[in-house]
Amino acid sequence: SPPQDNDPEPGRVRVAIRVRPRNAEELSDADYADCVEVQPELKKLKLRKNNWNSEFYKFDEIFAESASQKRIYETVAKPVVESVLNGYNGTVMAYGQTGTGKTYTLGKMGKDDVSERGIMVRALEDIIVNTNSTSDSVEMSFLQLYMESIQDLLAPEKINIPIVEDARTGEVSVPGATVVKIEDLDHFLQLLHIGESNRLAANTKLNTESSRSHAILMVNIRKSVKSDEEPGSSFQEKDRKTDRHGNQIPIVRKSKLLIVDLAGSERIDKSGSEGRLLEEAKFINLSLTSLGKCINALAENSPHIPTRDSKLTRLLRDSFGGCLRVSVLLCRELSPLCDCLEAMKIVNTVKLR
Ligand code: ADP
Ligand code: MG
Repeated sequence: SPPQDNDPEPGRVRVAIRVRPRNAEELSDADYADCVEVQPELKKLKLRKNNWNSEFYKFDEIFAESASQKRIYETVAKPVVESVLNGYNGTVMAYGQTGTGKTYTLGKMGKDDVSERGIMVRALEDIIVNTNSTSDSVEMSFLQLYMESIQDLLAPEKINIPIVEDARTGEVSVPGATVVKIEDLDHFLQLLHIGESNRLAANTKLNTESSRSHAILMVNIRKSVKSDEEPGSSFQEKDRKTDRHGNQIPIVRKSKLLIVDLAGSERIDKSGSEGRLLEEAKFINLSLTSLGKCINALAENSPHIPTRDSKLTRLLRDSFGGCLRVSVLLCRELSPLCDCLEAMKIVNTVKLR
């Protein structure tokens, strides 16, 4: 039987906008003007093009500056985590310019204040609570994708790790990367901390900013379920097994959650840049453009999702397939210089009259 979910539109990409609070510098700048205005109740965003012209865009969710980390998690990521626990693959991504709050939203560890914990920590908390520590397993890899090379953030000496696609199942994996079985939330926090330190060190060595690479947390879940339970993406009829008394033997259901902190979407001035900066910009442009194409193809229900163009979309391929939930979180800077229109295009928004 085909996978079922409570979601009436299981394959649809959801887009939420979160506007971060102004920082001290922006608050003290008398000339600072917001180019966007959020209308959370209407789920609309007003984009001021100039003094006379505004455009409205509609999204699945709009969060004002006051929105808490908890609320963001519950609205944007929790439905994805729940379907992953039901056997589907799912992805949560943050897209936006550097400084818009992507890492805060996804990766904040909340060491001093647990209310500040971001999506990664809250997702793992939910996954750990909802899996059985003896019969199920939760494993993670933590990767960085920089200039089309995958680096292991848990073992940074491993670079250029290949992506492997199973020809039969279509499953995408990165078997060369470190896989760690997560024992509990403290263990996960330690791994996240190690990964972040390695990311910082690796990028210092490369003389680049972490905003120039994508960070990818990959969580693989194996859940032991009775075969008559609601089937998930990895369930197949041939997996149904019974013992000699005719009782159903539990089957193992596999699913995967990807949480992706994308490289900054700001456009680097090509004329003014050279060397590595220009090379970085080309690779970021390649992956964000191909991501945009895939998201638009998904939004149009196209039978062909063009995932071959970049490593980012190849990695996401089996999280784009039949049974998926993708939420894109787009963080917007309240800067008059922001190029909102560009960002709007990638997420195939509905322009209102
Ligand atoms: P990005 O990863 O998109 O470059 P960051 O997550 O590093 O951006 O955020 C930039 C700065 O803004 C950081 O100092 C971060 O702590 C702060 N910040 C971002 N979002 C929020 C928020 N919702 N509330 C408070 N501070 C935030
Ligand atoms: Mg960041």
